[in-house]
Amino acid sequence: MKRRAKSSTGSASPDPERVSQVAEIPELRQFNRIVVKVGSSLLVDRAAGALKQAWLDALVEDIAQLHGRGADVLVVSSGAIALGRTLLGLPKGALKLEDSQAAAAVGQISLARAWSHALHARGIVAGQVLLTLNDTEERRRYLNARETLARLSAMRAIPVINENDTVATSEIRYGDNDRLAARVATMASADLLVLLSDIEGLYSAPPKDDANARLIPVVERVTGAIEAIAGGAASEHSRGGMRTKIEAARIATQAGTHMVIADGRVLHPLARVAAKAPCTWFLTPSTPMQARKVWIGGTLETKGVVTVDAGAARALKSGKSLLPAGVVRVEGVFSRGDCVAIRDEHGSEVGRGLIAYDALHAERIRGRNSRDIAALLGTPGRAEMIHRDDMALDGA
Ligand code: GLU
Repeated sequence: MKRRAKSSTGSASPDPERVSQVAEIPELRQFNRIVVKVGSSLLVDRAAGALKQAWLDALVEDIAQLHGRGADVLVVSSGAIALGRTLLGLPKGALKLEDSQAAAAVGQISLARAWSHALHARGIVAGQVLLTLNDTEERRRYLNARETLARLSAMRAIPVINENDTVATSEIRYGDNDRLAARVATMASADLLVLLSDIEGLYSAPPKDDANARLIPVVERVTGAIEAIAGGAASEHSRGGMRTKIEAARIATQAGTHMVIADGRVLHPLARVAAKAPCTWFLTPSTPMQARKVWIGGTLETKGVVTVDAGAARALKSGKSLLPAGVVRVEGVFSRGDCVAIRDEHGSEVGRGLIAYDALHAERIRGRNSRDIAALLGTPGRAEMIHRDDMALDGA
């Protein structure tokens, strides 16, 4: 991100105290893959327990505009439990887990229908994706979900995502869609996550308690100090309070995704972000691809080794994926999605990557042409053994 100095001293030796660097606030139009998270209170009228149709239609108009200029948009929408509890006639107040699961089962149908109709009216196809914690945290399932989202985006459909609340029990659930949306954003390699909220952004203190509280327009790094502000910011009352939003910011920005918290209580909230309405931006110094490569290259324990021939080693260095044809040896016990070391024929590590096949299948297709994969395995598979997006090369 480019920076500009707020105060310019013009002298040869500027006083470091006086040169305050202010990060440039990004513009909505610079982003190409955007996750938009919508909270229940924005979408569902609590008193009536009904969907706010006019609000949804206006938001979808904004989404259609982003989609129309070629951006991929993914929606993470809450509201299943809020809609379902009315349809089931459940009493107000906290619900028992089983009741909220039942409410989600009923409400999710209405929620998905509402999104599908609203998007359809703008000529956009919607796809429903329900995720559990395991789908985002377990590598094999993570890769499957990632591919599904990528396919939907490639076909210009908009995934409408929620937690699969009907099967998610307390130990294995997100419970809030802020963190879920952050994981979706990293999984989809989104460059921006927009959290539409019932507040304009992060304040220096809870605005209802402190008249001097000011909106923080940009957070360059999620530090302990930022987390401390959020901890006190009236977050305990609602599931998606400021605390989970800051956690979302940490997840997103570590993965190379920018995040913005914006006021969703208005009509056309995305158009307002584009028009620079007050909100809080959380910046990342990285990009999803760089962050993913750092993660693959540095933090994963390898489960096996694939040895590649000289031609494949050269192809990898020039930015190509690893095809089965270039693999001469496969060692270790690993599953699809695990991290393996890639070595050349002299035994030197050339990089690491997430392998698209488990050990048994990798052994069967090594040295063979990708065209033969279906015949060799009895089922079609990816042409690449390790896709270049899933690979970090040494020294790259
Ligand atoms: N997944 C829940 C629902 O759709 C909402 C979770 C949240 O409010 O963050 O009702």
